Amino acid sequence: MSFATVLSRSQQGLEAALVRVEVHVGSGLPAFSIVGLPETVVKESKDRVRAALANCGFELPAGHITVNLAPADLPKEGGRFDLPIAVGILVASDQLPPGPFDATELYGELSLGGELHPIRGVLPTALQGMRAGHTMIFPAANLGEAALARHGRVLGAAHLLEVCGFARGLRTLPAAGAPPDGNRAADAPDLADVCGQARARRALEIAAAGGHSLLMIGPPGSGKSMLAQRLAGILPEMTEEEALETAAVRSLAGRGFRVEEWRRRPFRSPHHTASAMALVGGGARPRPGEISLAHNGVLFLDEPEFDRDVLEVLREPIESGHIVISRAARQSEFPARFQLVAAMNPCPCGHLGDPASTCRCTPDRIAAYRSRISGPLLDRIDLHVEVPRVGPDEIASTAPSEPSAFAARRVAAARARQLERQGRANSRLEGGAVLERTLADGHALELLGTAMHRLALSARAYHRVLRVARSIADIAGEERVRSEHVAEAITFRQLDRRVGGAAASLISA
Ligand SMILES: [Zn+2]
Repeated sequence: MSFATVLSRSQQGLEAALVRVEVHVGSGLPAFSIVGLPETVVKESKDRVRAALANCGFELPAGHITVNLAPADLPKEGGRFDLPIAVGILVASDQLPPGPFDATELYGELSLGGELHPIRGVLPTALQGMRAGHTMIFPAANLGEAALARHGRVLGAAHLLEVCGFARGLRTLPAAGAPPDGNRAADAPDLADVCGQARARRALEIAAAGGHSLLMIGPPGSGKSMLAQRLAGILPEMTEEEALETAAVRSLAGRGFRVEEWRRRPFRSPHHTASAMALVGGGARPRPGEISLAHNGVLFLDEPEFDRDVLEVLREPIESGHIVISRAARQSEFPARFQLVAAMNPCPCGHLGDPASTCRCTPDRIAAYRSRISGPLLDRIDLHVEVPRVGPDEIASTAPSEPSAFAARRVAAARARQLERQGRANSRLEGGAVLERTLADGHALELLGTAMHRLALSARAYHRVLRVARSIADIAGEERVRSEHVAEAITFRQLDRRVGGAAASLISA
């Protein structure tokens, strides 16, 4: 045989398209070329493959070796094609039998000695290979991650010689075991540590139940970050599908992905100096940013001193649930359906409305401060809650705070109702589905209509109130949304016009 084809996959965004590695050994002067527009890094692969073959005792066939990675227009980064190229050369030069590599995908970067080094983005690749029904051979170090593609046939090899022994029927390769449980946030900080703050705790619980975005407004030191961090401990578990999507994004980012945490909802809190690119992703070979790493989890923006421009880039993914990154001729798309939690001071000095201190900010400065977040984000946040400084009485109180486990149980039950009713969290109900699915009774809609008018709520806010009211009814275990649920939901629209007090009078009226 002088021709061989071996299968592999490229990686672009979460897409892992099939690549056919074709090897032809022809007559002519000894030469080795790789075509198919591979990037520099693939050309370097030539040197590694040549050295690995020699050090494993194989002969580089005499003649002209041409390697074609098809299709030509896919980006092909990384050393993942070393192994299929090496195996293709061995099959094309009759040093290995071809049969064992039918319907088999090969991945791995070779060391000069023939060891297989791990590659990046294994999970999205393994999931695609699984759907195609192919056997996959990954570097042994990637086997734990590849195991998450649990219905696929996934094998691991640490060395080129192991793959060769397998091809000759002389040895087996270890198969991926069952994926780890992927513990939920068992070690997340507990709400039992928070004194008082009944209203903020309530907002957290509603946000967790329906996947709603949340803005906390309060003076420095009132415990906004402390509360936000405790959201992780009460969020409902991810479905397997969600967990795999999220793990696939983490796998692409490479850094810090721990397979044993694959079922844990992400909680990302980028620093306010983070650039727009760090937030949304990018780079010459696009990588996911914070918003994608927070996919199916929480993106926490603490004290949004973020640039207005940086916040502005969040607008589109908040609506669409994904982000498209264009670089030169190609586009990469990453999922980014995150739950936004933001914390801000009420004014630049932080003391507005604080009974213990006096605010010295001018109305102009306060307006400028708020406008930084209001444009891009405020209208898109479901719940606003004030987090006052905890008074000395509450701190001295010996009444224990409720631990997270209780809220987590209510949240899980409320989320289960949503999934059963509509297959998605309440925050993801869209357009006409909002009215249809919330099952609000006549009194509830009447109250909401009055509130719209009196508080001059936008149409967008109308839908937000309904979704939140639906989550409140789900926590209460009620089938229909009633006026008391709508009334509570309206109290969480504080920033729409400082409506807190007005809403209260409306409800009591
Ligand atoms: Zn102030």
